[in-house]
Amino acid sequence: GAGKGTLLEKVRAQRQDLGLTVSATTRAPRPGEIDGQAYHFMSQTQFDEHLRKGDFLEWARVHGHCYATLKSEVDACLAKGQSVILEIDVQGALQVKERIPEAVLIFIEPPSLEVLAQRLRNRHTEAEKDIELRLANASKELSLADKYDARIVNDDLATAARELASCIRRYEAGDTTAAAT
Ligand code: 5GP
Repeated sequence: GAGKGTLLEKVRAQRQDLGLTVSATTRAPRPGEIDGQAYHFMSQTQFDEHLRKGDFLEWARVHGHCYATLKSEVDACLAKGQSVILEIDVQGALQVKERIPEAVLIFIEPPSLEVLAQRLRNRHTEAEKDIELRLANASKELSLADKYDARIVNDDLATAARELASCIRRYEAGDTTAAAT
């Protein structure tokens, strides 16, 4: 709801060299979402089997469903020499940082919780009870934002996309002080 997906779409349109990973999830596909493109949609049993085999770089339960980054997806991008961007929740991001300390965490935040509520309602993809759950999670996530390397407020999409693109470039260039607040 902070606009991670839309922001990344914008940045990726200009940066086709950025590595794209497809996450695993146990949530049901939304209309129009294609398996293997939006996500690798799977049953809880399949998800648990991957988890048992150690196939995930990180995983988390978000809004009542399981989500995970497959190591194989990240490795495929790295093998091509690409920078990899993971669009994941806070719990997952902190696991990645633990395993890969050189990973850079960029927190995308909504201008306010009121704006976030409005965006989620306008999106019409979730039922009201799911929206309430997502809003409660958002407050929790915001309280962990200080563990991130950089923060970008997604107020105006074009401005935030420019900030994100330049933040990524600075980190790629090795500027570890590349804050974007
Ligand atoms: P949605 O169901 O709206 O596609 O995603 C819900 C939340 O799950 C979003 O905050 C999204 O960033 C997060 N998410 C998506 N993929 C992953 C993943 O692979 N790992 C983790 N930890 N979170 C993910």
